[in-house]
Amino acid sequence: MKLNIKNTFTSQLPADPITDNSRRQVTKACYSFVIPKPTANPKIVHVSPEMLDTLGLSENDAKTKQFLNVFSGNTVLEGTTPYAMCYGGHQFGHWAGQLGDGRAINLFEAQHNNQNWKLQLKGAGETPYSRTADGLAVLRSSVREYLCSEAMYHLGVPTTRALSLALSGDQVLRDVMYNGNPAYEKGAIVTRVSPSFLRFGSYEIHASRNDLSTLKTLVDYTINSHFSHLVTANTKAEINKQTYVQFFNDVATRSLDMVIHWQRVGFVHGVMNTDNLSILGLTIDYGPYGWLEGYEPGWTPNTTDRQNKRYQFGTQPDIVLWNLYQLANALYPLIEEAEGLEAVLANYAEQKDIKHLKMMRSKIGLSSKEQLDANLIQELEDCLQLAETDMTIFFRNLSDFNSTTPTNGLQIIRESFYDIKSVTEAIKDRWNLWFNSYADRLQRESISAKAKKENMNKVNPKYVLRNYMAQLAIDDANKGDYKLIDELYNLLKQPYAEQPKHQKWFAKRPEWARHKVGCSMLSCSS
Ligand code: AMP
Ligand code: MG
Repeated sequence: MKLNIKNTFTSQLPADPITDNSRRQVTKACYSFVIPKPTANPKIVHVSPEMLDTLGLSENDAKTKQFLNVFSGNTVLEGTTPYAMCYGGHQFGHWAGQLGDGRAINLFEAQHNNQNWKLQLKGAGETPYSRTADGLAVLRSSVREYLCSEAMYHLGVPTTRALSLALSGDQVLRDVMYNGNPAYEKGAIVTRVSPSFLRFGSYEIHASRNDLSTLKTLVDYTINSHFSHLVTANTKAEINKQTYVQFFNDVATRSLDMVIHWQRVGFVHGVMNTDNLSILGLTIDYGPYGWLEGYEPGWTPNTTDRQNKRYQFGTQPDIVLWNLYQLANALYPLIEEAEGLEAVLANYAEQKDIKHLKMMRSKIGLSSKEQLDANLIQELEDCLQLAETDMTIFFRNLSDFNSTTPTNGLQIIRESFYDIKSVTEAIKDRWNLWFNSYADRLQRESISAKAKKENMNKVNPKYVLRNYMAQLAIDDANKGDYKLIDELYNLLKQPYAEQPKHQKWFAKRPEWARHKVGCSMLSCSS
């Protein structure tokens, strides 16, 4: 296994001077050195061929003992110094203080094709940031993270990636629904890959401690490593207050683009705390996430958030804005002027609606813009909630709608209704009215029906990782059968393509999955 190791994070940022693995508050440092916990009997369950390629590794490399040992945490690659990152975060709206990589251990950075990648193990044992938990991860949540991060990548959603999924061979105790019924589950480790794992909370922690020196060092490192266009565009080639505002603006734009993609594909993150929002606008930390089945803006898969529904589907873009306010507060001491930061936040609020409308236009195949499109789309979102309507099937099948035969509308979307009996005459009337307006609007488009359909099928996926699909793969994996993981992995590589042999996955959630733990109900216990 030949990797081009290049460690920028540990060579440029301050380390915690304490090197024992005790749980503690870590100050004036961005990370702590820590060695992964050796595993009992590691076994690779799946490897991403795309990620191997991206890192310059071969499929043969993935079959070596060295690969198994390094990516299960049993061997530290020579010349590398694993570490856990220090960060804080606002959890469910409240400042939670230091959190940090409680069960993620960064191994090293590898450079390939001019791209620098950080590789980290999730579930590789305790770190100074583990607080009261064990630093481990179970197979169930690791399968979910592994499959979903790769699926999101193929959907065109900015995301961290996954290289491999391994069983540790250890047993891990978890109380899935937090109801006093702990049970042992199989331990697992996902190797995650990203240009950076820095989060909003990585900056908040230093600001909260008024440690402006570490904050500045980290922000400057981030700009130089990941936003270098901001430095080279500046004739003096130095970072100043204006650069910080531009940096914040870039983070806001990337975060907005990310969340608009989530809304497009029906992804609900579930735990959008500031420690789970990447500074690069990548989807990060796949926990109790879920996919919309019935189109329901108020839905969240996270049972921990069932009361307040803070992280429900419909308001995800607003939550990103709330999180950006926290980041703005953290950056303020470096800038000492609120104006620039406020302008970025105001621009986000404006762009949020503009980009949402643009995205929704694309979902219904409108390539031109008209003033009343917002009304048409609002009425569509209202109609979608009249009877339980599957989001993925609805938008995919809508591409068959032809403005010359508007009366076919209901027939075309019929398959997306969960219970056809619940579609009353009054609901049908609403839909027919909508189809009439939609047909009128389509007639003013200048592209052919064929081109419209092709465009729509590029933004409306046919296959997503429905909650029950991941659960079926997990149930099999718990019995030692990994075929379904591989099948879903391959299916989700081409989410926009027709894949006739996989047609069975283009189906509504089965009734048995409606209220099943793992399918519609997920907790943070992972
Ligand atoms: P999350 O909201 O799941 O991203 O996690 C919030 C915090 O809890 C992060 O600092 C995680 O590292 C930490 N954490 C979650 N699960 C564990 C675990 N099993 N062991 C140690 N730390 C954990
Ligand atoms: Mg997290």
